[in-house]
Amino acid sequence: MTGAGARADCDVAIVGAGMVGATLACGLAEGGLRVALVEATPPPGDWPAGSVDTRVSALTAASRQIFLRLGAWSDMVELGVSPFGHMRVWDAGGRGSIHFDCADIGTAQLGHIVENRVMQRALLARARGLGGLALHCPAGLETLEPRAAAIRVGLSDGGVFDARLVVGADGAASRVRQLAGIGVRGWGYDQHALVATVATERPHEETAWQRFLPTGPLAFLPLRDGRCSIVWSTDPARARELVGLSDAEFMERLAESFEYRLGRVTGVSGRATFPLRLQHAAGYTAPRVALIGDAAHVIHPLAGQGVNLGLLDAAALAERVLDAAAAGMDIGAPRVLRGYERWRKGDNLGMMLAMDGFKRLFGSAASPLRLARNLGLDFADAAAPLKHAIIRRAMGLRGDLPRLARQGYI
Ligand SMILES: Cc1cc2nc3c(=O)[nH]c(=O)nc-3n(C[C@H](O)[C@H](O)[C@H](O)COP(=O)(O)OP(=O)(O)OC[C@H]3O[C@@H](n4cnc5c(N)ncnc54)[C@H](O)[C@@H]3O)c2cc1C
Repeated sequence: MTGAGARADCDVAIVGAGMVGATLACGLAEGGLRVALVEATPPPGDWPAGSVDTRVSALTAASRQIFLRLGAWSDMVELGVSPFGHMRVWDAGGRGSIHFDCADIGTAQLGHIVENRVMQRALLARARGLGGLALHCPAGLETLEPRAAAIRVGLSDGGVFDARLVVGADGAASRVRQLAGIGVRGWGYDQHALVATVATERPHEETAWQRFLPTGPLAFLPLRDGRCSIVWSTDPARARELVGLSDAEFMERLAESFEYRLGRVTGVSGRATFPLRLQHAAGYTAPRVALIGDAAHVIHPLAGQGVNLGLLDAAALAERVLDAAAAGMDIGAPRVLRGYERWRKGDNLGMMLAMDGFKRLFGSAASPLRLARNLGLDFADAAAPLKHAIIRRAMGLRGDLPRLARQGYI
């Protein structure tokens, strides 16, 4: 039962079957709703055994819990995930540093590095297995037409159907957001993130490493095969130059910029760049429309929080919608959607502003700021309660978590 009025063709149409949209599809299909999932690009086919995609994400404990609860985590483990137990962060402009250790808070790991394609494949397989799901792929969203008790969805392949609710999980350039007339605020960072997979002379010690350079942060994320996935944020001209270097020149520049912490860089593959920006939707809802993931918010990748926030959106929206359905309410009613927006918008904004602040603090060459951030890193490193609070926040273990993300919740 999903509310009064004429029966729509489906309960929820989700546009975008990326990591966030596919997670919502699992959550809603598991709750017995009829879901239409619309995706423009066919998901990745088979890949060679032992290969690693350059697009990976650092997942928090909260995100892993969502995948566990949805029954998709075991497939991800089978396809390959990389746990990390330590995080080391330091500033190129001084001696300040901080070391996070999972043992400090009594957990087996701080998080996992997982290829984006692994998440997407496991989630889509799970969603299909749950039943109640119609996958429209490849098909792009073309039109949205609000009606009294439903919203009409028009697709690029000519498909047309009615849904009680349409969810935009279609990324930063969301068509759902545009068609719903929801504006965005934000700014470009005048930075690009260069990603690649690299081999290093010394072992990564299951540690996520990050050095703050004046031009932007450089992260080495540990992979299960001993290599690292790097995210090197820098100005666009330098990013272009780095992509154009020979492998040997690039490996030398990378190792030097990383202070040879893992020795020399001995191999590199798959260099690609992504422009970075901060972007926040003015609202997360419109009549019978809700936005989740990058469609709602885009954040600097320096603390690896983007998809983690999106997964919490998906879990929170699933909870609100399923509770409304169980209570016999219209799942697309403004009350239901506003409840979701109130829950997630403040949390997301807080994290976005914190990351923006870090980016500016560590990007400044001004002496007083350099001194302050180095003292701050050392102080936080020495103050156990503060450090534990930072770890728990970064692991997604604090705040008003949706049921799916709560540890131990069955
Ligand atoms: C370099 C880099 C490193 C990052 N590292 C991390 C990290 O370590 N941890 C982390 O949490 N986050 C990280 N992020 C952020 C993370 O990648 C994003 O937050 C995440 O991809 C958002 O997922 P999404 O499903 O909301 O959107 P997307 O991944 O953009 O997926 C949107 C989907 O919608 C589909 N689509 C788009 N338009 C249409 C349409 N009109 N019709 C139908 N389908 C459509 C697309 O094909 C796509 O499949 C990083 C980002 C960058 C750039």
